Amino acid sequence: MIPFHRPSIGEAEIEAAVAVLRSGWLTSGPKVIEFEQAFADAIGVEHAVAVNSATAALHLALEALGVGPGDEVILPTYTFTACGEVVAHLGAKIVLADVGEDYLMGPRQVLSVATKRTKAVIAVHFAGLAANVPAISGLGYAVIEDAAHALPAMLGDEKVGSLGNAAAFSFYATKTMTTGGEGGMLTTDDALIADRVRMMRLHGLSAGAWDRYGAGNKWAYSVEEAGYKDNLTDLAAAIGIVQLRRLGEMAAARRRIAARYDEGLKGVVDLPPRRPGHSWHLYIIGTDRRDTVMGNLTMAGIGASVHVIPLHLHPYYQRLGYAKGDFPNAERLSRRSISLPIWPDMSDAQVDEVIAAVRG
Ligand SMILES: *Cc1c(COP(=O)(O)O)cnc(C)c1O
Repeated sequence: MIPFHRPSIGEAEIEAAVAVLRSGWLTSGPKVIEFEQAFADAIGVEHAVAVNSATAALHLALEALGVGPGDEVILPTYTFTACGEVVAHLGAKIVLADVGEDYLMGPRQVLSVATKRTKAVIAVHFAGLAANVPAISGLGYAVIEDAAHALPAMLGDEKVGSLGNAAAFSFYATKTMTTGGEGGMLTTDDALIADRVRMMRLHGLSAGAWDRYGAGNKWAYSVEEAGYKDNLTDLAAAIGIVQLRRLGEMAAARRRIAARYDEGLKGVVDLPPRRPGHSWHLYIIGTDRRDTVMGNLTMAGIGASVHVIPLHLHPYYQRLGYAKGDFPNAERLSRRSISLPIWPDMSDAQVDEVIAAVRG
């Protein structure tokens, strides 16, 4: 059996979690502050704000930009529903766009659906390949990067997470690093966005619990807004600090696996699009024999998946007026795609088993 994903959790992560459990402080506190500082340094941004998911980071980023009723937010149909639902939660209109052959929405696709009411664009770095955020920003729109697949990834010489007005990272169990199952981070160079998100992630309070109960701190606080409950725990942050330290090593392992797949599957299936700086969160092949290859993988006990069924093919989005046929490129990519297992602790022998099953 080769699972589709297995998180790389070592003794250091386990010890860090146990130390927090023994410390007497479990929720957002010193470990969250340490994790945020380390993350901001790793991405090269002014502010990193820890939250409990990338979905929360996307939601809070749009909220901080002032997105609300009457506004439109553009996002690719080729993404996870988190990108759309947060727009709906703010009362704004979801506007979907198609993607190119690289699974990415670029400036051309954005322009094809933009209107006077376009308030923001969510640019998704799909599979680990960086979207052209500067070109979309150049059209004059605020851009939120969905970097859930893209840690650590680069666009040319620049780090993903530092390209748009703000970015959302995910530490969900299957992503390139985890904080123990659920977690997220918002990065930005904009102090106004960072301050607003820090307040709104915890009930709209003027000061968090650590500020109030830490030694020498004052107990008083005020409720400034109707906020949310999106903060990250110290338990999660402690695991995140260790995983972040291991990010380079885990990224190198993913690159090694991708290179081995390339070698073994060249000429057999379409290899994934790539440019330097790819984080290889997903290794997606394209084939007209999808059902046969999926069958081979299942028979061999290998976990595989499809990323993704485009948003406009789901019932919720069809109730908004979208229909099959609206975004032909996304539909074609989705029909032909299979995501193969790619996780840091996979052995060469396991990669070779997957290659053999795909070749059939
Ligand atoms: C996983 C994922 C998210 C959501 O991440 P959570 O941390 O689970 O909220 C958002 N966008 C994309 C593209 C994802 O793959």
